[in-house]
Amino acid sequence: VRYLILSDIHANLEALDAVMTAAGQDGYDKIICLGDIVGYGADPNACVDRVRGIASSVIRGNHDRACAGLEDLEWFNPVAKAAVVWTTQTLTEVNRAWVEHLPRGPMAVNGFEIVHGSPADEDEYVCQVAEASQLTGYLDADVTFFGHTHLQGGFAYYRGGVQRIPPLSPDEQRRETVLDPGVRYLINPGSVGQPRDGDPRASWAVFVPEEHVVVYRRIPYDIAGAAGKIVDAGLPPILARRLEIGQ
Ligand code: ZN
Repeated sequence: VRYLILSDIHANLEALDAVMTAAGQDGYDKIICLGDIVGYGADPNACVDRVRGIASSVIRGNHDRACAGLEDLEWFNPVAKAAVVWTTQTLTEVNRAWVEHLPRGPMAVNGFEIVHGSPADEDEYVCQVAEASQLTGYLDADVTFFGHTHLQGGFAYYRGGVQRIPPLSPDEQRRETVLDPGVRYLINPGSVGQPRDGDPRASWAVFVPEEHVVVYRRIPYDIAGAAGKIVDAGLPPILARRLEIGQ
């Protein structure tokens, strides 16, 4: 089975469509979504409609939770908060209710696990080796997929210590990583709709458990189109700029 792993779509329909087209050409059997379908971008309803129709397993992210009205917004910075308020007003009631009822991770999927932030806390950012090292006792499966940081790559838990898996370099479109037996992995497919690793291309991953392979992928998309919609919607213009620089 080939699992298409999507995370942090953030209401970016141009990125999601580009990823789905490219992933369709590569081939996949099931779609897994690690949360943050909405928040920041201008197409929350279209992105929810897409994901609801095609994903076999979905967990919520912190923006999904906030946009569904499940928390007060004191922890959000002013830009994120403005996007949450706009998204809450824009989501249809059917879509808002669907987002509200998304399950929280960790979720077990056929021998591997999915989380939004970390296996310990759905809101935790796992960016550094030191942070990843704290999570050794929380890894219930050989492979756990996480998002939230919008940084493609992840971490490999070797006996001698944790090693960082870097994102694709700007000239790579694809990298196949063969997973070592006896090593645990925390794998981040990167963000579909708002990459923050300095590479503005949409990111995703494909997991083939039978072959012990993770394929990291990256593809350009219509950034100008997505950025223009953000400005036209009256969302903070910095959210358009972020897409252009991948930060
Ligand atoms: Zn996110």
